[in-house]
Amino acid sequence: MSEFLELVKAKLIALIDIFDPMLIVYYFCIVIGMLLIEWLLLGWEKSSLKKIKEFKGSVKTDFFFFLIDAFNVYNLIAVIVTFGVFHLAARLIYETTHLDLAVHIANPYLQFAVVFVFSDFKNYWSHRIFHRYMPFWKLHEFHHSATEFCMLTRYRGHFVENAVKRLFDVIPFAILGAPIESYFAVKVLSEIHQIALHSSFTSDWGWLGRYILVSPAAHRIHHSVEFDHYDKNFSNTFIFWDRIFGTYHPAVDVKELGVEDNPYNKEGMVKDMVIGVRRFLTSLFPRKASSQ
Ligand SMILES: [Zn+2]
Ligand SMILES: [Zn+2]
Repeated sequence: MSEFLELVKAKLIALIDIFDPMLIVYYFCIVIGMLLIEWLLLGWEKSSLKKIKEFKGSVKTDFFFFLIDAFNVYNLIAVIVTFGVFHLAARLIYETTHLDLAVHIANPYLQFAVVFVFSDFKNYWSHRIFHRYMPFWKLHEFHHSATEFCMLTRYRGHFVENAVKRLFDVIPFAILGAPIESYFAVKVLSEIHQIALHSSFTSDWGWLGRYILVSPAAHRIHHSVEFDHYDKNFSNTFIFWDRIFGTYHPAVDVKELGVEDNPYNKEGMVKDMVIGVRRFLTSLFPRKASSQ
């Protein structure tokens, strides 16, 4: 038990380490690199950099979320607003499970592949659950409330959603174990991919995008306001989950991004967070209709 408390203490110290140079370098290298690649390939007019410079609408919120994530404040806020309940529960799940099944795979490349595919399978289902279960959707809706894509839209996510997701994110660790380097490699690769998915690129990546990887065009369908596109293309990295579980939608032109009756992007980030929590709680504890 004292070992567990030590772990919690170490985690808390890590949480308040706002200026972690490694983290800042990690975020800025990946994001700035991706922003420059997009500018180079698509030109200034279509680039996310131009949108960030103009600093309008939902891009403002995306930018703030990127900054608080890069400076490690995002996780701290997520812990504070949820009283650390989900982070603690995830840690308990890990400590009590510890199946470490991946140690039985001798080949490190195969082990990495198993960790990658299994983590992505978990992402598909956690994403689908966040759309299916109404109170969760009220949190996840915030990510969908971006009305245009700029690469930083990847960082737009409600704090409470992120905290709840810990319960899903711990599953691969608890079941597979495997060295932390494998998870870090998965994180870096999927980070780069996720930034590309929320960019001004609209390519469907041909055969690769139809059967293997989620393409920018496929993720635009997921963010589309059009009714026919609802609950389609949940996959995070590998599009074949959508094909296997019947939620695939082929790439077509998307006219409008966002959510219906969008309450966000009007009164600043703090107000947006409050709106998200209010909508979550109203959905969790709906008021009974008054009897006539
Ligand atoms: Zn979604
Ligand atoms: Zn998205």
